[in-house]
Amino acid sequence: MPLTPLAARYDQFILDLDGCVWVGGEPTPGAVEALEELRAAGKQVAFATNNAFDSGEDLVAQLWKIGVRASLSDVVTVGGAMQHMLAETHTGRTAFVIGTSSMFRHVGDAGLKVLNATDLASRAEVVVVAGTTDLRYDDLRNAIQAVLRGADLLATARDPTYPQPDGPWPGTGSILAAVEYGSGRTAEIVGKPEPQLFLTALDRLGDGATLVVGDRIGSDLAAASAAGLDAALVFSDGTDRAELDSFEPQPVGVAETLAELLTRR
Ligand SMILES: [Mg+2]
Repeated sequence: MPLTPLAARYDQFILDLDGCVWVGGEPTPGAVEALEELRAAGKQVAFATNNAFDSGEDLVAQLWKIGVRASLSDVVTVGGAMQHMLAETHTGRTAFVIGTSSMFRHVGDAGLKVLNATDLASRAEVVVVAGTTDLRYDDLRNAIQAVLRGADLLATARDPTYPQPDGPWPGTGSILAAVEYGSGRTAEIVGKPEPQLFLTALDRLGDGATLVVGDRIGSDLAAASAAGLDAALVFSDGTDRAELDSFEPQPVGVAETLAELLTRR
């Protein structure tokens, strides 16, 4: 399977995971073979994800499981980006975290004291919101009270949903909306559509013509544009096709799947 003319034009690729490489851990049709073709043609590949559920190690293991070779340096996670940002700007402070155990670790590793299990949770100086499937009313109460008392509000992303085999599941943005609505404050976002994830990936890949591929216009295409990179769009359940007409800059390529975008059959 040769590469498409579009794929041949670029030296390196930054790929979104959910809805692009896989959906719910199952590869999108032909994705594994297409990635093999890219690498056989000498192209560099990095993965950049707003997924805050899993650690970088988890994602590397999931990539190997579907047959894609990857190392920790190939995967840029929003949890890693959050840790980096907190370490630079908020270390030594107290935090309340909505997220998975992976996000709790990142916040702790950045040098913040996590107050979740204490009586002081609603008095934290920083509130971090990330995706989780284990949300409780008390989490929203503590987060909203802390922000109303003046805590900084940071979130990994604003994605309303993420694709799963049975349809979209509520993402970080759905949880964040409750905290923002209750507190009347707007969070600072670390993941896409901010450019930082792609800039970190670029840092690891090095110089070369770079193409970003993702399935979300408001996050992947917007972040690529903010980072000054070309982007292509593939479609998943969560792609808002109507949004594409009015989006600027238009993607350099559009295809139903990652494999269709990269390889000719
Ligand atoms: Mg995606």
